[in-house]
Amino acid sequence: MKISAILSGWKNYMAKSEVTETVARQRAALCAACPHSRNGKILAFIKDTLKNVEGAYCNLCGCPLSAKIRSNDICPDNKW
Ligand code: SF4
Repeated sequence: MKISAILSGWKNYMAKSEVTETVARQRAALCAACPHSRNGKILAFIKDTLKNVEGAYCNLCGCPLSAKIRSNDICPDNKW
C-alpha cells in the first residue's frame, strides 16, 4: 500500500498538476515546521520547487517529503 502511494506521489511529482501543487504547498509548510522532518544527504539530488522540503524526509515513515506531500499517503503524525 505504501509503495503504491509513494509511486503515485512521484507520478504527480513529475506531472505537477496545479491542484496537487496547492495541496502539496500546504503540506510542505506543515512538514517544514515539524520536528520529524530531516534533511537527508542521500536525497540531496532531489530538486523541488518547494524549497522548504527539498531533500528532506519524514523520520516517522522514512518517506522522501517531495514525493510524500504529493501522494495519497497520510501524515503518520496526523498533521495533514
Ligand atoms: S509527514 Fe507528518 S510527521 Fe512526517 S514530517 Fe511531515 S508533518 Fe511531520
